[in-house]
Amino acid sequence: MVVAVEYISKEASDDVENATHGVTGILAVQGAFAEHAAMLDRLGAPWKLLRAADDFDGSIDRVILPGGESTTQGKLLRSTGLFEKVAAHIAAGKPVFGTCAGMILLADRLENDDNVYFAALDATVRRNAYGRQLGSFAATADFGEVRDFPLVFIRGPYVVSVGPRAQVMTEVNGNVVGLKQGNILATAFHPELTDDTRIHELFLSL
Ligand code: GLN
Repeated sequence: MVVAVEYISKEASDDVENATHGVTGILAVQGAFAEHAAMLDRLGAPWKLLRAADDFDGSIDRVILPGGESTTQGKLLRSTGLFEKVAAHIAAGKPVFGTCAGMILLADRLENDDNVYFAALDATVRRNAYGRQLGSFAATADFGEVRDFPLVFIRGPYVVSVGPRAQVMTEVNGNVVGLKQGNILATAFHPELTDDTRIHELFLSL
């Protein structure tokens, strides 16, 4: 999806002002957060960007961790104090959706990186699994019950092993690229870059 210019200066959806709950917090320290915001607007779901720890107020019921660069996002999560807020949200069992770098941040183990971030998803993930240069491509596959979803990969990871707590939702060329574990959704691909809202709808239904 092409994101309209208005998103450059938008910090929250128009209806978020008096919300006391039901708002999706979109991590916005780096990466493709505006595309998620546009997707939630299409679905009429209130959202707010999370740039600083104070942005994570009591209105936030669910969290999106967007694509981008996971090492940079990890550092900025720490320096802003947002890491503890998001970790507490996940520990409380509340819904979280990680796309691409977001999947890396959620994983219990990274095969080719010494960092571990939220360690919430029972899986081992390989960063830049398709190579850094030629790692961008499109495919179509089911995501659980969601049939024929358009998958967009941008230097994405894939899952090299899945523990018993996580459920495989998508495989492409024999590699696992979508997982669900309770209220955690994770995709190695970018649903927010398509016009297909079904995975975001699934997230909002958690
Ligand atoms: N290659 C990035 C990383 O390892 C993820 C890419 C993306 O989010 N599109 O952090």
